[in-house]
Amino acid sequence: MSSDQNILSAQVDLVKIVSRYILLEQSRRNLKGRCPFHKDLATSLMVSPEKNQFQCFGCGKGGGAVEFVMAIENKSREEAMLLIAKG
Ligand SMILES: [Zn+2]
Repeated sequence: MSSDQNILSAQVDLVKIVSRYILLEQSRRNLKGRCPFHKDLATSLMVSPEKNQFQCFGCGKGGGAVEFVMAIENKSREEAMLLIAKG
C-alpha cells in the first residue's frame, strides 16, 4: 500500500496553506520556516507533511490547518474552515 495514497492526501494540504504565508524550506522529512506568530529570527516553525501538523519550537504554537488559519487570519474555527474549504 502506497503511503502517499493514505487518508491524509484526501485532507487539507497544510504545507500548501502555510506556504501562502511564509517561505518554507525542506528540512529532512519536514519543512521549516520563520514562525509568523512570534518575532522569529530563526526558522522555528516545523511543518510535517506526513502528520499534516505544524509546531513552533519558539512560541509553542502548533496544530493542523484549521489552527494555523485561525491564528494567522485571526478567525474563529468556523471561519477558518470556510476559508480552507474555499481553497
Ligand atoms: Zn512561534
